Amino acid sequence: MPAKVDMDKIVSLCKRRGFVFPSSEIYGGLASCWDYGPVGVELKRNVKEAWWKVMVHERDDVVGLDTSIMMHPGVWAASGHIDSFTDPLVECKSCHLRWRADAIEGKKCPKCGGELTEPRMFNLMFKTSMGPVEEEASTVYLRPETAQGIFVNFENVVTTSRKKLPLGIAQIGKSFRNEITPGNFIFRTREFEHMELEYFVKPGTDEKWLDYWVKERFDWYVRLGVKKENLRLRQHGKDELAHYAKDCYDVEYLFPMGWSELEGIANRGDFDLTQHAKCSGKELSYRDAEAGEKYVPYVIEPSAGVDRSVLAFLVDAYEEEEVEGEKRTVLHLHHSLAPIKVAVLPLSRNEKLTPLAKEVFKRLCPRFVTDYDDSQSIGRRYRRQDEIGTPFCVTIDFESLEDKQVTIRERDSLAQIRVPVEGLEKVIEAKLRGEAFDASTLWATRQK
Ligand code: ATP
Repeated sequence: MPAKVDMDKIVSLCKRRGFVFPSSEIYGGLASCWDYGPVGVELKRNVKEAWWKVMVHERDDVVGLDTSIMMHPGVWAASGHIDSFTDPLVECKSCHLRWRADAIEGKKCPKCGGELTEPRMFNLMFKTSMGPVEEEASTVYLRPETAQGIFVNFENVVTTSRKKLPLGIAQIGKSFRNEITPGNFIFRTREFEHMELEYFVKPGTDEKWLDYWVKERFDWYVRLGVKKENLRLRQHGKDELAHYAKDCYDVEYLFPMGWSELEGIANRGDFDLTQHAKCSGKELSYRDAEAGEKYVPYVIEPSAGVDRSVLAFLVDAYEEEEVEGEKRTVLHLHHSLAPIKVAVLPLSRNEKLTPLAKEVFKRLCPRFVTDYDDSQSIGRRYRRQDEIGTPFCVTIDFESLEDKQVTIRERDSLAQIRVPVEGLEKVIEAKLRGEAFDASTLWATRQK
């Protein structure tokens, strides 16, 4: 079953409307690097906030952390990244393109059919040097995951947060991987953001908690509006498991290029804390005073990509439909993810309308991300707001000057209601929270 939209359409919408631009575009771009534009940055922030809200703020068993990108090189030796964070690389002897051996079918170059070299293991960590004199400086790595910053702070967090197990530590931040074959827009890039939770549990309860987190994480996407039929779970086969994992599930999404990983939820056992204890010489265990026990906790890790989630939300929300004989492109984004919540649109740039329109904007902008747009025709402005997924447009017309009422237009149903300017923010707030939008509400005086 192919996804309903081509990636080209998503890339083009993102460029046209200011979600995502190619990095360093005026210099010809830099492969697989992307910049988030004015609406893209809002969407991305909303995705991270939606994650942080349910993973940290709405729980009393999870705390947050923000650790540095560069860490002591010993961390990566202990974690296994220096030895094992590799992909098998093959090179075409004719066109010299490089491929991930496990991502291509057959033994010939997918581009030109040429003969390929034997695979060699290629480490995906970016290296740099720290210190002013390069020869004397020490080699450091840009982190390929945020998880290790959490493990090495386990003791600090347990001591200062005074929490008991099970305890989760959450982090959102940039990660870097020198991927052999990046691509598919923001799906696989060399610089991206992770949203990771390390959930520390008593050994023996790990399988129960893995089931719990797999369900939680799957449901998170559904609650944010992703269609269930475009999501599925896949358990890793024994031969696929990473060196640290006891068990692992992927939440997969039906992207335009097919079913692909959106998030991984792994049972890491006690691998990480044991390794760091061994390599650092510091004990990393948990003392349960009440039960009189001491043990090395097991870790359940839901690890999601911000950028990949953004792509999934965009693809899932995208729709082209016909309205009164005209094509309309609309993003049915969940209200909490929509970059702009409400747009204030005076019917025209007529100077009589401007003061009231500005007043409406001032009333709304402290509460919601609000756009003000008085350029071009109202139809074009509605189209722009539909394409960036704005749930509500408020229109100020000449009647508004008389009756101090404005029209709210809803993105999905295109229904319109007329409401007083006084108290408008309360109406928008209720509608954003999900109150029904129909012309029978108290204020409705006319329909589309
Ligand atoms: P893949 O198999 O796609 O390379 P992975 O299994 O190596 O991913 P993890 O290490 O489990 O990925 O990272 C967790 C999540 O981080 C992934 O599910 C994905 O959402 C995101 N992610 C990983 N690598 C990248 C990347 N190069 N670009 C964008 N997002 C990424």
